[in-house]
Amino acid sequence: MHADGFEYHRAGTVEEAVDLLGSIPDAEPLAGAHGLLPRMKTDEESPPALVDISRIERLSGIERDGGSLTVGALATHADIAESTAVREHAPALAEAAGAVGDLQVRAGGTIGGNLAHGDPRVDPAAAVLALKAKTTLRGPDGERTLAASELFEGEFETAVGADEIVTALEVPTDGAGTSAYHKRRNPLSGYAAVGVAGYLRCDEGAIEEARVGVTAVGPHPIRLRGVEAELEGASAEAATAAAAADRVGESLPASGVRSDPYASAEFRSHLLSVDTEDLLGGLLGDA
Ligand SMILES: Cc1cc2nc3c(=O)[nH]c(=O)nc-3n(C[C@H](O)[C@H](O)[C@H](O)COP(=O)(O)OP(=O)(O)OC[C@H]3O[C@@H](n4cnc5c(N)ncnc54)[C@H](O)[C@@H]3O)c2cc1C
Repeated sequence: MHADGFEYHRAGTVEEAVDLLGSIPDAEPLAGAHGLLPRMKTDEESPPALVDISRIERLSGIERDGGSLTVGALATHADIAESTAVREHAPALAEAAGAVGDLQVRAGGTIGGNLAHGDPRVDPAAAVLALKAKTTLRGPDGERTLAASELFEGEFETAVGADEIVTALEVPTDGAGTSAYHKRRNPLSGYAAVGVAGYLRCDEGAIEEARVGVTAVGPHPIRLRGVEAELEGASAEAATAAAAADRVGESLPASGVRSDPYASAEFRSHLLSVDTEDLLGGLLGDA
């Protein structure tokens, strides 16, 4: 259980990191090292070179400005879980970050690494889908923005290019919505067996916007569009979490639901319906 040899480079700026990634074949950024190093030790990944971005000051910090929260890619799960601004304006994200691993993982792992890695079980991914967050990426051709729903492509596959780094997460906070995250922990690994995040925005008693993001169920985190459609436009009083959760099956991945020693695909689908109903029941009560 030890990693193959690799080159190590430390970038002082975003520009330097992008240059290094563009000039060293198959080099990968290194941030909190809590996602990549465990996989290098088990030979699941073996990049020949690492570009350490963890000291780039510009990538840290959490700010609320006007209608959005900007979370730097190097913000740790602990920074996010403890941030008053995130807790107040994007509670699902604070709850998801607070549910990650243990104290040590939350103190070291970063939101940029968590989202860029493409691990299908990560908690913050469900929240960024439900909150319609966007990631800002920087590459050799400048900056671009990706919606959370465009980011996750497959198991350990994301739309982040090999010579790009995630610089920030932008979370819209202008609507007066309510959000929450529910994690059912796999007791064997501590990762989510099922994680569901929801966002509801109501106006004059009607549900104007509903979004549900889910992690640990398929090859990558997804939205439950059928559940969202059931809720949107309904009266907040008449809508029932049970009727919405009945439509979970419409959005399950075509490639199949994940199965592992803790939960078969069938059991996991059942847990997803139960947890979606629970989460939505709470959000509808708040709304
Ligand atoms: C024991 C343990 C338990 C864990 N439990 C959980 C859990 O319950 N829930 C959960 O969500 N996560 C969990 N994790 C994963 C943890 O959240 C990691 O922090 C996360 O997966 C990776 O973030 P990192 O900063 O450590 O990234 P790194 O390990 O440094 O990098 C991970 C990957 O992302 C790339 N990368 C890193 N930063 C960037 C960037 N800014 N731009 C582009 N690419 C980048 C790297 O090249 C690499 O491919 C656990 C990890 C451990 C070790």
